[in-house]
Amino acid sequence: MNIFDIPAFTDNYIWAIQIDDSITIVDPGESIPVLKVIEEKKLNLQDILITHHHYDHTGGLLELKKYISGKVYGPKNENIDGIDIALVESDLIETLGHEFRIIETPGHTLDHLAFYNMQANVLFCGDTLFSAGCGRLFEGTYDQLHGSIQKINQLPDETKIYCGHEYTLSNLEFVKSQINSEFIKEKYKETVKKRSMNKITLPSTLSSERKINPFLLETVPDDIQDLKAVDCFKELRIRKDNF
Ligand code: ZN
Ligand code: FE
Repeated sequence: MNIFDIPAFTDNYIWAIQIDDSITIVDPGESIPVLKVIEEKKLNLQDILITHHHYDHTGGLLELKKYISGKVYGPKNENIDGIDIALVESDLIETLGHEFRIIETPGHTLDHLAFYNMQANVLFCGDTLFSAGCGRLFEGTYDQLHGSIQKINQLPDETKIYCGHEYTLSNLEFVKSQINSEFIKEKYKETVKKRSMNKITLPSTLSSERKINPFLLETVPDDIQDLKAVDCFKELRIRKDNF
C-alpha cells in the first residue's frame, strides 16, 4: 500500500492510504485539501478512519462523507457526527483490501484509537504517540496514556508510525535537553535540516522511537531511570508540559 500525507492547518497530517486510484483517509481535520488532492490526482474516496474526536482530526468528516463510497470508522463517541461503524479494542476492519486491527489508546482523549496493519507494519496513532514525544493528557490519566503507549510498544521494531502532527523538531529539542545521546543529536540535526526544507519527518519507526522517544521508557533521562515506570512517564510528561 502507498501512504501519502495531505497537510492540514499548520502542523496536522491527514494520511491517505492509496491502492490504485482509490484512497482511504485518516483524520480529515479539513475537507478542502483532501478534495483538492482527489481532483488533481483523479482519485476515488473509499473510507474515512478517525482516531479521536478532536476537531483538527474530524473537522472535514461531514463534508467528505458526501464523496465516499465506503464507510466512516471511528470511536464510539456521540461528540463525533458521522461515524458509521463504532470501533472497540481488537475489532478488525478492512479498507481497500487491507486489514486493520483496532488498538484502544486512551489518554490524550478517552475515545482514542489506533489502526494497525500487520502485513505492512503500519500504525496510524493520531495524537497518542508522536515522533520523539506523545500527546498531551486532555481527558485520561497518566496511567492510561502510559498503558496505551506500552501497547504500541509491543508492536514490532519495523512498525511505521504515522502520527497526526509534525511535532518532531520541538519534541527533539525537549529530548536533547534531557538525554545525552549521539543518536538523538544526529536525529536532531537531520530533523533541523528536513524542516528547514519544509520536508516531512514522518513516518518514523518504532525502532527509531525506542532510541529517541523517552515516553516509550526505553531511553530515559538518567535522573529518573530508577522510578517506577508510570512515575517515570508522569515525570516526563510534566517536564515536557513545562518545557
Ligand atoms: Zn488531539
Ligand atoms: Fe491533534
